[in-house]
Amino acid sequence: MNTQRFTAREADRAAEILKAGGLLGIPTETVYGLGANGLDPEAVARIFAAKGRPQDNPLILHIPSADWLERYCLDIPNGAYALARRFWPGPLTMILKRRSVVPDVVTAGLDTVGMRCPAHPVCRAILTAAGVPVAAPSGNTSGRPSPTNMADMLEDMDGKIEGIVDGGPCSVGVESTIVDLTVTPPRLLRPGGVTLEELRDVLGEVAVDAAVTRLMGADEHPRAPGMKYRHYAPKAPVTVVQGDPAESARYIRRHVGDRDGVICFDEFVPLFEGHPTEAMGPAADQAEQARRVFDALRYFDGTGVEQIWAQGPDPSGIGLAVSNRLNKAAGFHIVQV
Ligand code: AMP
Ligand code: MG
Repeated sequence: MNTQRFTAREADRAAEILKAGGLLGIPTETVYGLGANGLDPEAVARIFAAKGRPQDNPLILHIPSADWLERYCLDIPNGAYALARRFWPGPLTMILKRRSVVPDVVTAGLDTVGMRCPAHPVCRAILTAAGVPVAAPSGNTSGRPSPTNMADMLEDMDGKIEGIVDGGPCSVGVESTIVDLTVTPPRLLRPGGVTLEELRDVLGEVAVDAAVTRLMGADEHPRAPGMKYRHYAPKAPVTVVQGDPAESARYIRRHVGDRDGVICFDEFVPLFEGHPTEAMGPAADQAEQARRVFDALRYFDGTGVEQIWAQGPDPSGIGLAVSNRLNKAAGFHIVQV
């Protein structure tokens, strides 16, 4: 299959692919998504095939405005409207009770559905032109780091999808925050662009799912089946070193092997001369770390390094999301210094 490239101005033409039951690479402010008409079960099934995604890992429905929530969801609590007013359009996904119009293949058979209204102007133009809710997970091959620019998505999806729209590099760089509003108190399932602190500001108490901060045991049942899968992982094993940045840099300097790679804050790059090194932004700039983390992880697949050492970011604000993605890439192989 020839994957058609569209510019940001060609959203209307690209949306024709969605209307015709095809797969489209879509830029969003978080990461690039792999979209299909969310009301067309055959089109949605092709997303799973293109990604090699397990069937029990549900997708998110993307809508152009909060007005569409009632079409696909039931028993919507007031908290959902409060969150939509404050954070939509934006990097927040709400888990709500679904209506039966939402196909089983989207929700992996769950009685809930993930809903998001994205902010990226090109994505909004595509959703509006398509006139349907768009089901989409991240646009990577299952298990790999998510793509944050068109080239990274084409690395995984060229020839497997009908088209892709170039919306430039993603401004957030980690996937949306997922909050489950069908339980009391609401529960954070995945940290992302909207921070836990911001959610609590609107909702009051918010619980944090165990899967956010540690590896799920084989006998545990996560809130969504997808939470148990290995994620974001480069080919080489990753070790995250958490602690004060100067300390974690020194620890890595002492332990790094000749053929190992390093992900570090900009200040510490000179310590690792001679090693393949990816700078993640300044230690104090969490937004920049979020934009760079997936690209840093992807980079090492082209280098043949034996191991990757990564400095763990401060887990406050959006740092919780960056830390979560690195820890998952490391299979929660973490050293505390
Ligand atoms: P991705 O953005 O690629 O991670 O894919 C969508 C994410 O949303 C996955 O992590 C799913 O587990 C999560 N998700 C989608 N629908 C639901 C749901 N109904 N309940 C819980 N999580 C969900
Ligand atoms: Mg994903």
